[in-house]
Amino acid sequence: MSKLALGSRLFLSHLLVTLLGTLTLVVISKISSPRYFILYLERIQGREIVVGPFRRDLIQGFQYAWNRGAFWSVVVGASTAGILSYLVSKRIVQPLIQMEEITKKFAAGNLQERLPSQEIPELDQLASSFNRMAAGLQGVEQRRRDLVTDLSHELRTPLTVIEGYLEGMGDGTLEASPELYQLLSKETNRMRRLVNDLQELSKIEAGYLPIDSQPTALYPILQSVVQRFSDQLVENEKLTLHLDEPLDLPLVRGDMVRIEQILVNLISNAMRYTPQGTIHVTAWEEGDRVWTAISDTGIGIAPEDLPHIFERFWRSDRSRDRNSGGTGVGLAICRRLVELQNGTIEVESQLGRGSVFRFSLPMA
Ligand code: ADP
Repeated sequence: MSKLALGSRLFLSHLLVTLLGTLTLVVISKISSPRYFILYLERIQGREIVVGPFRRDLIQGFQYAWNRGAFWSVVVGASTAGILSYLVSKRIVQPLIQMEEITKKFAAGNLQERLPSQEIPELDQLASSFNRMAAGLQGVEQRRRDLVTDLSHELRTPLTVIEGYLEGMGDGTLEASPELYQLLSKETNRMRRLVNDLQELSKIEAGYLPIDSQPTALYPILQSVVQRFSDQLVENEKLTLHLDEPLDLPLVRGDMVRIEQILVNLISNAMRYTPQGTIHVTAWEEGDRVWTAISDTGIGIAPEDLPHIFERFWRSDRSRDRNSGGTGVGLAICRRLVELQNGTIEVESQLGRGSVFRFSLPMA
């Protein structure tokens, strides 16, 4: 059986209600009116009017008048009700048809369209929900486009470098040497890191990264990460890494693996952007949170750069110039990881003096 459209359903249901109402009205008055008329005639009989000989005619006359009257009332009443019900159904169905057309446009990728506000409150709510959904989808779409643009840009640079060297070696203008291979390997390394970081970030942003938050002791994690980096620094006389004495820290609520990942990112940044000096790691308790700070005496970050520091692919001109090998994704990952553990991350920095990155985690 084919399905009836909402407009036709509304119209037919109105019509059915009207017909039933009219039918009841007609049947009940058809039965009761002549009886009341007869009763009335009996009441006036015997006063100054003699009804007797005209009784039949009177009743017939009444019935005729009643029938004509009822016929016209039904015709006019039913037509008026029909027209009204058609108009009402149209008013309800029209916005729904309009909504359907606009949602088809959403589906076709035209997410700028918005549904207008509606007179009927329920439909208005539906329209606002649709608009909110479209705005959300628009944001996702925008981020996706930004990501593809950023990514192509970031991948193009090492690819151009590699291509240049390979072409030079191919046509004999450049001679293959261990240094050249090292340069090439540095570029491919950068691309691999970029792809890895990006995969991590996309997992975090899509919510696929499992975070297993539980009461965790922070100090042993700090110790093991700092130890790992100190081992890399044994031959470096210009840079020292220092962890504060064990403090009486309460347990934090977080995921050990993710905390480690944040620390690795922040400490390797500090090392990358500190040609010489000290990197200091410390933690303290404040209110219901535990803060960890990584401070360095490195190149620092310009005040105008600070607001962008946690953005994906953002790198200061200085760090690009220095060819630091960074990908500009590390801090974006850090921020998402800290937020996923209900913490906050902040930075303070002075150009040429150094930076302090600190993040908080809730106490367990
Ligand atoms: P990258 O892989 O380039 O280090 P990040 O997202 O970790 O990417 O950092 C983004 C940018 O922030 C860096 O390119 C650098 O300009 C700046 N930055 C991060 N950490 C520091 C720091 N400790 N000192 C100075 N600049 C920093």
